[in-house]
Amino acid sequence: MTHLTTPINGDIFAKCFRNGLNEVHRAEDSYVIFRPVESAQTPEVMVDGRPMIMIGSNNYLGLTTHPRIQAAAKEAIDTYGTGCAGSRWLNGNMRLHEDLEKVLAEFVEQEDSVVFSTGYQTNLGAIGCLVGRGELVIIDKLDHASILDGCRMSAGQMIRYRHNDMEDLQRILKQHVSQPKLVVVDGVFSMEGDIARLPEIIELAHNYGARVFLDDAHGIGVLGPEGRGTASHFGLSREVDMIMGTFSKSLAGIGGFVAGASDFVQFVKHASRPLMFSAALPPVLVATVRAAVEVIQTEPELRRRLWANAKMLKDGLEEQGYDTGYTETPIVPVVLGDRADVVEFARLLGEKGVFANPVKVPAVPPGHDLIRTSVMASHEPHHIRRVLDAFAEAGREMGLIS
Ligand code: PMP
Repeated sequence: MTHLTTPINGDIFAKCFRNGLNEVHRAEDSYVIFRPVESAQTPEVMVDGRPMIMIGSNNYLGLTTHPRIQAAAKEAIDTYGTGCAGSRWLNGNMRLHEDLEKVLAEFVEQEDSVVFSTGYQTNLGAIGCLVGRGELVIIDKLDHASILDGCRMSAGQMIRYRHNDMEDLQRILKQHVSQPKLVVVDGVFSMEGDIARLPEIIELAHNYGARVFLDDAHGIGVLGPEGRGTASHFGLSREVDMIMGTFSKSLAGIGGFVAGASDFVQFVKHASRPLMFSAALPPVLVATVRAAVEVIQTEPELRRRLWANAKMLKDGLEEQGYDTGYTETPIVPVVLGDRADVVEFARLLGEKGVFANPVKVPAVPPGHDLIRTSVMASHEPHHIRRVLDAFAEAGREMGLIS
């Protein structure tokens, strides 16, 4: 196979030979993406043979190793095997999927829901088929990439408003009064940890005849009574037209769902290509998520621990002089902007035994580079103290704090 690594004239591989994506990420000594984790997503992980404190996982409630959930997953494998081997449209649809859809709809206080095999696919599938030619989708500039890609996949026009800026949103809505419109917003912004101004967004959208789609990937399990999410946190579950969630955070697996009025859900089930042309969520994940929803509702102390840990980390970082931005949730960013190379910072933290995620453009706006940390309910205070010590040392070494 050596001919594949030898450049040829006008080679489509040229971009691969040139270190394609990002020279900084690829530099051997500061390679902090694709780090090989060799254990479960718990507060103490093994990475490439070394123990580390994990402060970069979305396993907010620590449910990926919850005994009841693991037991449900094992039982599903024993009963149903490992995969569905087909699309929901054909052989892949199971009673299990339909039962979970009812449970999820009830959990987020909507009429019905449909599950997809990833959260990313859910946004592609739901937004992609809903926004048609001549129609408009309006999104926050910091909305997740899967929302952006869902808009690009649709036949409609996309406009972005300045992050959480209600005047900008109103300006756009006013300019397009007569067009069918959708406003899509993250409930909790995934990199910065701030919460959408949902009451104002709903009021504005409905005043100007737009529907509201809430991506609650980071709100479900974390915010609101019984962890029902951002809409419930504001007491607005009935006012949001559609709620989307992922299973890869608090719900301990992978997959996604979108919930709303039955007519909307039926439409998505019959029009969404990412649902139609991709295989169904395996039974093990359906059982995992179903058990996770039960645990979330019956073990409120998990949420209390999550929030106590978030406070301890945020307060500790701010005491050291770090800027944690506008976070209001267990996502605690350390905003470094242009003041330091976040990749180098994450590498230094790694040397000190702490796993945190460096975030650069395009995941954040230019000049807003940050280290994204996120706590889990399963962190003990001593884990968080270790993280704070590592931030103090790394910050001093890089001349960021005194
Ligand atoms: N929406 C948001 C806000 C997200 O943060 C993510 C994942 N990080 C997704 C959607 C996609 O979900 P998944 O990774 O579960 O496919």
